Amino acid sequence: MKNIYLLGATGSIGLQTIEIIEENPDDFNLVAISGYNQLDELIDIASRFSLRMISVKNEEDANVLKKVFTETTIVSGDEGLKELATLNPGDKDGILVNALVGMVGLRPTIEAIQIDRTILLANKETLVVGGHLIQELLEQHKSKLYPLDSEHNAIWQALNGEDLASVKRLIITASGGAFRDLSREELKHVTLKDALNHPNWSMGQKITIDSATMMNKGFELIEAAYLFHIDMDRIQPIIHRESIIHSMVEFNDNSIIAQMAQHDMRLPISYAMYYPKRTPGLTQPLDFGTIKELHFEEVDYERYPLLGLAIEAYQQGGSKRAVLNAANEIAVSLFLENKITFLDIENIVIDAVHNHKVIPNPSLEEIIAIDKEIKTQIRFEYDR
Ligand code: NAD
Ligand code: MG
Repeated sequence: MKNIYLLGATGSIGLQTIEIIEENPDDFNLVAISGYNQLDELIDIASRFSLRMISVKNEEDANVLKKVFTETTIVSGDEGLKELATLNPGDKDGILVNALVGMVGLRPTIEAIQIDRTILLANKETLVVGGHLIQELLEQHKSKLYPLDSEHNAIWQALNGEDLASVKRLIITASGGAFRDLSREELKHVTLKDALNHPNWSMGQKITIDSATMMNKGFELIEAAYLFHIDMDRIQPIIHRESIIHSMVEFNDNSIIAQMAQHDMRLPISYAMYYPKRTPGLTQPLDFGTIKELHFEEVDYERYPLLGLAIEAYQQGGSKRAVLNAANEIAVSLFLENKITFLDIENIVIDAVHNHKVIPNPSLEEIIAIDKEIKTQIRFEYDR
């Protein structure tokens, strides 16, 4: 029986993690959850389990929950996320699932590594902004960090038992997002509703927009570089519209191992939760008779400028990645609030990254300060 500590329980990844736990009550025990804006959803989840801890947005929400769940410790804010990430430090089989969205996931990841906890990471922003810190800490601690992101989970599966030294390339597949069949001219007129309509996956709003701009794929290249200790020039994105091959590893003998499955996040989540065991899960089998064809196209960097920008920010290193993420978080929020157009997202992020003078190897405190500064600046300019 493994204890699960779940950050971001009310989101898309969080709810799918809970589904797996509820299907397998002999294997997993949900101990603690966090939520932010969806208090009713959080109460609904909490009433189905006997939890040790619930972390909420602020003290006001905490006071509401304290009246309902008198046996559970209720915590709030950033400190609450920390308490959840480091609860029961002696629990060696405990697993922290980080399903938060945004850079808020970085600090609790660091805190969990410091208590040697195993982490299943959906929150890719952690590696985008703080990959260098995470890599360094993982070398000093016993904590293991496994990816839930489907592409990285696929690479992890394909690498199983292989020597990293024999890897030639990682090939990361991309669906192309909601607007993959539109020209740049046509992108001028797209709406929020169009952008939220992903062709293959049902996910949280931010990652759905990030998929349409391909910022998501750019983030995933950075995520892969840190997870698998590989140079950026050996990671290749490729458009694969069916999302059946979730990514591939090419070895130095030119053999390629691909991982294929239905596009269903419950598979990578379940693989990571049960690792190193495989179990029959909730995902349906593939039917090649129905699929018939798989397509691949090279990525057009002019069509998707944020993809190239992510590579540039990674290569320039240091604080550029924090700026890339902060500008993108705010630009996506402004777009979700209908305050800017779809193409404004790109312009805001490109300007912020190009105007920033890089600080090499930033500390956690420096990253947090830069994040705040960039977000405040952009909000000030556009929030009218
Ligand atoms: P979501 O928006 O559905 O859920 C996010 C969760 O984080 C919610 O529980 C929300 O309450 C919480 N949260 C939001 N802002 C917060 C804040 N400031 N402080 C504390 N908690 C906060 O997002 P999601 O789609 O589940 O994605 C979660 C992460 O997983 C993201 O980093 C995303 O890129 C990654 N990911 C998601 C999918 C997917 O299929 N949804 C696939 C791959 C990777
Ligand atoms: Mg992904």
